[in-house]
Parts: sequence; structure tokens; C-alpha cells
Amino acid sequence: MNDAELQQWVEQISQSSFGRPFLHQARFNRRLRSTGGRYFTKSHDIEISVLQLETFGKVEVEKIIKHELCHYHLHILKRGYMHRDQDFKLLLKQVGGSRFCQASPRASTKQPYRYRLECVACKTEYYRKRKVDVRKFACGKCRGKLKVYPLDLDTHS
Ligand SMILES: [Zn+2]
Ligand SMILES: [Zn+2]
Repeated sequence: MNDAELQQWVEQISQSSFGRPFLHQARFNRRLRSTGGRYFTKSHDIEISVLQLETFGKVEVEKIIKHELCHYHLHILKRGYMHRDQDFKLLLKQVGGSRFCQASPRASTKQPYRYRLECVACKTEYYRKRKVDVRKFACGKCRGKLKVYPLDLDTHS
């Protein structure tokens, strides 16, 4: 996924979950490690960690995007957009965003996913902590062949 696709993804989540457009920039940050996403109050831009996407996959990152969009929309509407604000807590609950700016922070340091599997046919991605023998397993969606990509979690710094 590249920045343009991320931009589209964020715009789409903004419309479907918040009913409001996202009119600023979303981009990936390769160096972002300590957190999954960031919202910039000056530029209104959103940054998402590539590492989070590679480690936790799209379902988790969607929750992070929702979290950042809570900051975004509340800030623009001049409501309480900080973590401690009631407005923020309520909206976050409504849209089902992640509680933190990242996917489960404890899990990420304890047991990160070490392998990404990708279906050769339908491109579905799977994340595994242990090595999988791809000769024995097929894609859960289409039974296609899987390819393994080790996730080197320490090359992003
Ligand atoms: Zn936050
Ligand atoms: Zn498949």
C-alpha cells in the first residue's frame, strides 16, 4: 500500500464512520515506531506507521485511523479532541477506534508478528508469529498458494 492508497482509505473511513470528509493529507511514516499514528494540529495531517500495518494488518490499522480521525474531526469542530476529553472518549467508542494511537501496545513488544503470508492468487494477507509451512497451508479465502515474507522488525529505525 502506498500513500495515495492510504489517503483514499482514510477518506473512505472518514465518510463511512464519521459522515464527514477528510480534507487533508494522510501519509505513511517509515520511522514511526513508538506509536501507530499521529495527528498534527497545525497542518491537520495524519501519519500512519508502516510498521504497524506490516505487523498488525489492515483490521488493526483501520482502528488506528479511526482514532486519528477522532482527533481530526473534533479538532476541526472545535470540540474536545484530546485523549482526556469526554467528546473524544465518546466519539472513539461510537466509531470503534483503538484506545491508543497504536494497536495493543503490550502485544507489540511481547509477541510481534514475524511473518507475513500473502496469497499469490487473491493477495489476501495473513500475519503469523511462527513460521508456517506453506506447502501444507493454503489461502483461507480461495485455497491459493501462499508466499512467506519475514517481517524484519528492526530494519525500520
Ligand atoms: Zn491519539
Ligand atoms: Zn487467496
